[in-house]
Amino acid sequence: MARIAFIGLGHMGGGMAPNLAKAGHEVRAFDLSEEALAKAAEQGCGRADSTEEACVDAEVVITMLPAATHVLDVYRNHVFGNAPPSALLIDCSTIDVGSARTVEEEAGAKGYEMVDAPVSGGIAAAAAGSLAFMVGGSPEAFTRAKPIIEPMAKAVIHAGGAGAGQAAKICNNLILGATMAVTCEAFVLAQKLGLDPQVFFDISSQASGQSWSMTTYCPVPGVGPKTPADNDYEGGFAAALMLKDLKLAMEAASQVGLELEMGEEAEEEYSKFVDGGGGNKDFSAIIKMIDGSWKAPDGQ
Ligand code: NAD
Repeated sequence: MARIAFIGLGHMGGGMAPNLAKAGHEVRAFDLSEEALAKAAEQGCGRADSTEEACVDAEVVITMLPAATHVLDVYRNHVFGNAPPSALLIDCSTIDVGSARTVEEEAGAKGYEMVDAPVSGGIAAAAAGSLAFMVGGSPEAFTRAKPIIEPMAKAVIHAGGAGAGQAAKICNNLILGATMAVTCEAFVLAQKLGLDPQVFFDISSQASGQSWSMTTYCPVPGVGPKTPADNDYEGGFAAALMLKDLKLAMEAASQVGLELEMGEEAEEEYSKFVDGGGGNKDFSAIIKMIDGSWKAPDGQ
């Protein structure tokens, strides 16, 4: 069993870290949010007062942070030099391929092995320990990372060298953003045409319109499995994070000379929703903008 520093206990990390503790690891958790830290402590994680404190004597450091700026800051200013060079570094955040490669190179120069290991599956899978991990890094680093990741995962796949996990993740989320937007459009159209949403779900979830956005993460309350739609679109995967991922995909496309029209449309729709005050809502709340019922929170 390993001593693991776990940094970032939000919607995802807050579910992942306790699964490592349940598997018998010694988890020292840190988050800037006292509330997030208290929740992790209730679920078997040890509390640290800073990233530095969490990293002392750590054998593994895992980060689950919002975006590249947080990841670069946390590794450069708090992890490097505080975790022993023997520690394996695993970043599970979704960030751009370039930043992932940069931080992995900087880690290598300081003697650390590091992998990018972004995830797919959402908060329910984070809590259940059934995320899909796509891992970028050397075969040796992957071999070290896999058994550590396993208690949080239903699949751990080696995508290739540094940054390859992030490349797989942004391509996956390009599909997710576009399928969620069009699934929402289909539910709104179905209702306008007089179909009951449950009946449409029963049909489409078994027909060729089926997708993860339909079957596992249905955007209509009371239909399909329990999703953020059943909680007024609170919790889950923030629309602002989906917009971040679509922007990462569009930037990556332009760097390799591709024009991706469906992706651009999805990015535009999510931009409109986030600009209209929906950034903190789950990304499936975009259905409210499509059906015209969206009201920005007070003060926005
Ligand atoms: P979140 O905003 O809920 O959690 C991020 C946490 O990081 C917050 O609790 C925040 O306080 C903490 N944090 C920020 N800066 C910090 C610092 N310097 N030191 C310590 N803690 C710090 O985000 P999330 O939904 O958990 O997503 C995390 C990452 O996972 C993102 O990159 C996201 O794109 C990706 N992701 C999210 C989902 C999802 O369904 N929510 C699914 C797959 C991937």
